[in-house]
Amino acid sequence: MWKCAICSGEFNAIPDDAVRLTHTTARTNVYRFPDGAIHALRKIRNPRSESIPPPLESPKEATELLQSVVKALAELLQPETKSEPEIEIEDDGESLTPMALAFRRRKEIQN
Ligand SMILES: [Zn+2]
Repeated sequence: MWKCAICSGEFNAIPDDAVRLTHTTARTNVYRFPDGAIHALRKIRNPRSESIPPPLESPKEATELLQSVVKALAELLQPETKSEPEIEIEDDGESLTPMALAFRRRKEIQN
């Protein structure tokens, strides 16, 4: 079994017509296949155990990835949509404590 470092393709065998382009002692060697495709092939022992693709992201990781993508997109879009700074329109200057707020709310109910 051979695995290509370029296209990640896996091949049971290198075709007899393939031309070996590199002659290094490295484990990966470049071959030109009969169809003209260039593959950097590395011999792998058992695709089940050695070159098995990493498991799909766990749901948590997938969620975090999605969130980071959404966040990045939001940050990308922000300059377009952010036309005015955040202004608290209802803020009339007085700082209201929770007690004052409760009092005001109670007053409104009574009215
Ligand atoms: Zn390839």
